[in-house]
Amino acid sequence: MVNATNDGNPQAGNAVPVLSVRGLTTSFRIGDEWRPVVRNMSFDIAPKETVAIVGESGSGKSVTSLSVMRLLPKGASRIEGSVRLNGRELLTLDSESMRRVRGNDISMIFQEPMTSLNPIFPIGKQIAEAITCHRDISSAEAKSEVLHLLEKVRIPNAKGRFDDYPHQFSGGMRQRVMIAMALASKPKLLIADEPTTALDVTIQGQILDLIKLLQEEEGMSVLFITHDMGVVAEVSDRTIVMFRGEAVETGTTDDIFNRGKHPYTRALLSAVP
Ligand code: ADP
Ligand code: MG
Repeated sequence: MVNATNDGNPQAGNAVPVLSVRGLTTSFRIGDEWRPVVRNMSFDIAPKETVAIVGESGSGKSVTSLSVMRLLPKGASRIEGSVRLNGRELLTLDSESMRRVRGNDISMIFQEPMTSLNPIFPIGKQIAEAITCHRDISSAEAKSEVLHLLEKVRIPNAKGRFDDYPHQFSGGMRQRVMIAMALASKPKLLIADEPTTALDVTIQGQILDLIKLLQEEEGMSVLFITHDMGVVAEVSDRTIVMFRGEAVETGTTDDIFNRGKHPYTRALLSAVP
């Protein structure tokens, strides 16, 4: 039987989804009221699959991913529904276990890598810390893994850049450094929230190519968040169109592009050059 929320997912039924979201509803406290900004989102991501969430600014894309990661301010936010990672419910996990999930199983990259990198430490040291905070290995081993990661994300002359600070890298190279840090824990799922939005168009293409390549090399699943349909076409197997907090259409990226029905989907498509 085909699960209605698995629209177009070629792997549905064959494998336990890496991520399975059901009825996700996230609200923020506004005075005495709870205002829902994400309503009843349901989707699966299969092993090695890339799923895109596309929608205009303010539609609830980041809140969806931050709900999955449980990174929203406690007390001011309420998350309902179910979020399963390889079958394990995350919404009811204690905070220590959730911290381990964030450290080991899911990594996130964001729009502006400068805000995630510490400006006062060399990048080699920051990546080494991302490795040693999960695993008990010697500093020599960590250093060789850092080099391996920098080479993996194709930083030219990686060996010579260990002691460089974040500001000594271009925007595109900083995003590569962030991707290297995200890969340090060998995550099952990478959540990329507008990772190319702040970059020049030519650099955007290079970062998208890198993410696709790494996904194949690492066998990760990717949740790719963007407002840009052109980017969706480049990266995703399946696409969720989000509008005002809800998924208005879900399907294979080919279906969305060629047979998208919802007026909002069509409006997004008409903006693609
Ligand atoms: P997108 O990523 O699609 O641009 P967001 O998920 O960031 O949109 O935001 C969705 C809605 O939730 C917006 O109206 C935004 O103002 C609101 N919002 C986001 N974070 C918070 C917060 N911490 N508290 C209150 N409202 C928030
Ligand atoms: Mg956002």
